[in-house]
Amino acid sequence: MQRLQEILGKKVMPGDEVCTVEEFLPGLGTFEKGGIVRAAWAGMTEVDMITRTVFVKPFRDIFKIPSRETVIVGIVTVVKDEFAIIKVVGDIKGHTYPTGFTGLLHISQASDRHVKDLYEVIRVGDIVKAKVLSDSPPYNLTLKGPKFGVLLSFCGNCGSIMKKSGPDTLKCPRCGRVEKRKLSIDYGRLKGLLL
Ligand SMILES: [Zn+2]
Repeated sequence: MQRLQEILGKKVMPGDEVCTVEEFLPGLGTFEKGGIVRAAWAGMTEVDMITRTVFVKPFRDIFKIPSRETVIVGIVTVVKDEFAIIKVVGDIKGHTYPTGFTGLLHISQASDRHVKDLYEVIRVGDIVKAKVLSDSPPYNLTLKGPKFGVLLSFCGNCGSIMKKSGPDTLKCPRCGRVEKRKLSIDYGRLKGLLL
């Protein structure tokens, strides 16, 4: 999880080390030499978790900022009782944010249902799709509505990608652990979102 945050959304110059081939396979804008995946051009790193591939998106495509109603993709970095902090790394139209923006999710915006515990909604390391409620950073976010919620999650036990096993329920295919989340209807469909 920690490592994914280091790899994803990083500004790179040609030749910069991105990750190892064991972590991600080299995709567009990268090349591999001696087991190390490096940037082929200047841009920002993105990953496709399904194919375990890393890409570098050129800078010319990226300078844009979110505003009210923008649907963003982010990584959960902090979860407290009443709020969570989400690093906003891009939007669903394919714009990426080189340095990331701070997004805040209050528990009242976490779900359409009443939520007692934010840990039943999201956890650190989850990749989420959310709607922006404010015009400048830190962005207030909402997960209300079927499209919004967790897009990808990793097992708290063994780190495998969790599979959807019921409404707002995930199950680990490797160790069998079951966890609750507020899932997006697009759970698991990460491919193409940030590319
Ligand atoms: Zn597991």
